[in-house]
Amino acid sequence: MPELPEVEMMARLLSGALSGAVIEKVKSPGLGTLKSFDPPVESLIGAEIDGVRRRGKHLLVDASSSVTMLIHLMSAGRLQVFDKAASSKDRRSRFLIDLADGRQLRLREFGTHQSAWVKLVETKKVDFEESLATLGPEAWPGPIDLKGRLNHPRPLHTLLRDQRVIAGIGRSWIDEILHSARLSPFKRGSDLTAQEIAVLEEAIPKSLDRAISHYEKVLAIPLSDKLPMPLEVHNKRGEPCPRCQTKLEAVRFEDHDLVYCPQCQTGGKTLKDRRMSRLLK
Ligand SMILES: [Zn+2]
Repeated sequence: MPELPEVEMMARLLSGALSGAVIEKVKSPGLGTLKSFDPPVESLIGAEIDGVRRRGKHLLVDASSSVTMLIHLMSAGRLQVFDKAASSKDRRSRFLIDLADGRQLRLREFGTHQSAWVKLVETKKVDFEESLATLGPEAWPGPIDLKGRLNHPRPLHTLLRDQRVIAGIGRSWIDEILHSARLSPFKRGSDLTAQEIAVLEEAIPKSLDRAISHYEKVLAIPLSDKLPMPLEVHNKRGEPCPRCQTKLEAVRFEDHDLVYCPQCQTGGKTLKDRRMSRLLK
């Protein structure tokens, strides 16, 4: 999180709010947040923001100087616009853009790690930048064609989060998608039947579309720090399955829980926590 639906909404809302705004100053207080040096940050000064786009889980802020800010929010970043500049007390700020109209665009990060990043890339070269060039097809809006892409012995919960296989899905939406498709997160890609692949091809864009439709109703600028994610399964270990009321179970990994319904997804089997997580890392 944020994943495709959240990044899509940030791109849309920020694009509307920022188009035409002139960049006055750029600051990068984050440790190692800015990961490129050519073109230099000076290439943004005086340029207008043309718009904000999304590719996979990346945000692309295009400037009129033919330079694009390629941004990855990682697990806890937000790109937000504020009416005033940040006070020096805002320790969440990683990359700041002062706009000539007095507003400030901020890449902020919640949590303890500093992992969100920014690269400045010539706009005409951005599609060839490594992190974009290696992305698989977009998980939304679809239709998506997964035939031949999942023929791998990795379990679905890691395979579908691999951005080279399909772009945009992360730890939150994978739980929702697999629950919606009634597939075990531990089923290996290479064991899927043609019918199961067809179910996934439908479940992936549908789950993400449901999220985007929800956000269209509730999100506006200014974007709040906490996004109201319409999750039914993820982070809901111990709660009843929204479909069959069975208690949702989870496998705990180092930094997240994988949640599933034993009735709908694993043929009644509860997967042993620690042993399974060791095996599947
Ligand atoms: Zn269920």
